[in-house]
Amino acid sequence: MGREALNAVEEARDQIGSLIGASGDEICFTSGATEADNLALKGAAFALRKQGRHIVSQRTEHKAVLDTLAYLEGCGFEVTYLDVDAEGLISPKDFEAAIHKETILASVMAANNEIGTINPIGELATFAHGHGALFHTDAVQAIGHIPVDVRASGVDFLSASAHKFNGPKGIGFLFIRKGLKLDSLLDGGQQERGFRAGTENVASIVGMATALKSNCECMDKNIAHLNKLTSLLRDGIGKFFKGVVYPGVGEAPQLPGFTCVSFPTCSAEGLLHMLDLKGIAVSAGAACDSKNTQISHVLKAINAGKDVARSTIRISLGIENTSDDVATILAALRAIVCATEKLRG
Ligand code: PLP
Repeated sequence: MGREALNAVEEARDQIGSLIGASGDEICFTSGATEADNLALKGAAFALRKQGRHIVSQRTEHKAVLDTLAYLEGCGFEVTYLDVDAEGLISPKDFEAAIHKETILASVMAANNEIGTINPIGELATFAHGHGALFHTDAVQAIGHIPVDVRASGVDFLSASAHKFNGPKGIGFLFIRKGLKLDSLLDGGQQERGFRAGTENVASIVGMATALKSNCECMDKNIAHLNKLTSLLRDGIGKFFKGVVYPGVGEAPQLPGFTCVSFPTCSAEGLLHMLDLKGIAVSAGAACDSKNTQISHVLKAINAGKDVARSTIRISLGIENTSDDVATILAALRAIVCATEKLRG
């Protein structure tokens, strides 16, 4: 019975590895991306602390990265948080300039979870390596949605979470390039090549591999479908509403199906609740943190302005959505925005 479970886990490991250009033994299963980010950053920092104590990252990372970096600062590491431009991109020049001989690690996400901007990860990993630093990317929003290849991009560590690509909640993985050392966070058994002690969550691991395979096999079709729906949505918004702003949107490539939009006459919180009453789930700020009513650190970092930030929602279309769903969203938005404007006179 044990062998059957082990085989299922190893098959899933190989499958996930092959879908991202890695080999199976470079995949370490975790409880999700929060754990994967913690393992990559704390694990690498502690393993490399004799070589240096400096880490480079950016202001728009997810809290799973930012809070881990803050913890490391408390342990004596120095972190440089790079500013981003209006699209949420760091300047490659600033990135290279921030790396010095004490720098052991850089961490920049593959795509932003609030504004959808895709970062040039391969280029940044090359800069980091050119100065002797390792490179981690939180690829939670990218994996399963856009092509991700760890060999082509050259990243050393990559975090992922299954529930972001239609897999089960509470499971994820960290890609750890072969030969690299990490201090593990947990003491105990020697599972996951000693990187992560504890019995593997077999059912979720198999579910994660199945979901990733299915997403990757249909990726081109999914991207075309989501791009079509996004155009419909944005065309409809453009037709019906005045003064709408799309924070973070510019020349940089964006995640398919992703619309971060501000309706200046409405509060994001009000919109979120009224859409919820109509059975439409959107988010204001980060979805993982919907109880937090403070202005999102990402919108702040791109200088969206307080009024825009307070009225920004994120509409994430999925592969199961249809053009009828887009029409329903537009009708709901129209009713809510018109009612709000009438109330305000
Ligand atoms: N990183 C990013 C970019 C995310 O969007 C999220 C969650 O949505 C996480 C990390 C945390 O992932 P998890 O909830 O699997 O721990």
